[in-house]
Amino acid sequence: MEEFVQKYVKSFMAELEAKNPGEKEFHQAVKEVLESVAPYLEQYPNLIEQKIMERMVEPERVIMFRVPWMDDKGEIHINKGYRVQMNSAIGPYKGGIRFHSSVNLSIMKFLAFEQTFKNSLTTLPMGGAKGGSDFSPRGKSDAEVMRFCQSFMTELQRHIGPDTDVPAGDIGVGGREVGFMFGQYKRLRDEFTGTLTGKGQTWGGSLMRPEATGYGACYFAQSMLATRGESFEGKTVAISGSGNVAQYAAQKAMRLGAKVVTLSDSNGFVYDPDGLTEEKLNYVFKLKNVIRGRIKEYVKQYPTAQYFEGKRPWSIKCDIAMPCATQNELNAEEAKMLLDNGCFCVTEGANMPTTPEAIALFQKAKILYSPGKASNAGGVATSGLEMSQNSIRQKWTAEEVDNMLHRIMSDIHDACLKYGTEPDGYINYVKGANIAGFIKVANAMMDQGLV
Ligand code: NDP
Repeated sequence: MEEFVQKYVKSFMAELEAKNPGEKEFHQAVKEVLESVAPYLEQYPNLIEQKIMERMVEPERVIMFRVPWMDDKGEIHINKGYRVQMNSAIGPYKGGIRFHSSVNLSIMKFLAFEQTFKNSLTTLPMGGAKGGSDFSPRGKSDAEVMRFCQSFMTELQRHIGPDTDVPAGDIGVGGREVGFMFGQYKRLRDEFTGTLTGKGQTWGGSLMRPEATGYGACYFAQSMLATRGESFEGKTVAISGSGNVAQYAAQKAMRLGAKVVTLSDSNGFVYDPDGLTEEKLNYVFKLKNVIRGRIKEYVKQYPTAQYFEGKRPWSIKCDIAMPCATQNELNAEEAKMLLDNGCFCVTEGANMPTTPEAIALFQKAKILYSPGKASNAGGVATSGLEMSQNSIRQKWTAEEVDNMLHRIMSDIHDACLKYGTEPDGYINYVKGANIAGFIKVANAMMDQGLV
């Protein structure tokens, strides 16, 4: 078994890397899935003969386009636009749009690949996609962001639609950006449909969608903790990021009785030894979502907190760590620090935030560790619920959506247990999530023939 897996992964990766040179994040994401599903493929050789994995790593379509826009001073800028439509075996393409200076084809492909398995795990009928641009909204005026979003959507609109591809937000794309893109889509296509999710509450958005990724990650962590008779009550939680996912992960963790001691952005992190309160978190909401300031301003408001420039929060002692910022933001050295400080649960809110070396350390130490494709799936799941509400022209209550989110996160946890429980009882959430996500997509692809 071991020998087959090693040989299969090695030869597959050699071919993938040759065909997709330099796309290191994409290679990393594929390798992780391959290592989990190779033992399963060995049992079902027809999936190997049918080249299901080879098909899954080749996007069904990659759209790349020019996004020209003009700033407030009249200067012209040109950005790159992307939409990677990875897999539509189980439903229309679905996945967020990221606006960040680091965006490139490798990052788009890794995110679209991960999205395929994540969407499969949600139990909802959604294929996998991702899009974005190397445009950063940071430091831009509202008018500049609007002009950029309109230019981006002018091209993207011809490739998406409620039954084709339904984008949403991600890093750098929140309610403001979704609004500008939806407005332009509606203007050009002359249709009011659920083509984007994460919409405003008065024009088709779902209650609980803003909260869903962070809350969902906490619900997933609750299930993980329960396997060891534990809960959030009285635990110290370190969170990275201070955007949408981090804000709501912090809120839910606090409301479940935990003390949240860190938040961060790409410049550094704040450590508040007294822990966040509802009042402090309201300040963060305003700082990040309205003023659009930096997290270091927190210490001016709350001087008992400390700010660490250029550092990430993983040196801080905690029981539970929730990386909620970006990919590869928690490395092996930081994993060792977390373990040495007694951290026993790592729940990813971000996509692929933990490096493979760090994951190996967590799994060797047999702590609770969940990959983002399982624990952050609440966001896209609630986007799926937004699509359902748009289709039936109805709006569900916050309680109804929250109950569905709870059930979905619990189902994802059950799927991880089913496919990820090792003979010694350790739950390998990476293996569980990858195999459960893979089986559904692979079977649908087999049913639909060679397309
Ligand atoms: P936001 O843009 O709201 O926030 C992103 C946060 O991460 C900011 O604090 C940002 O800091 C920080 N960050 C971004 N890039 C880096 C970097 N290179 N290094 C350090 N910090 C960085 O995005 P979201 O909260 O929506 O997304 C966070 C993560 O969660 C992403 O990995 C995303 O893919 C994932 N995710 C999001 C979902 C959603 O529903 N929004 C759903 C599922 C996953 P700064 O302001 O300095 O850039």
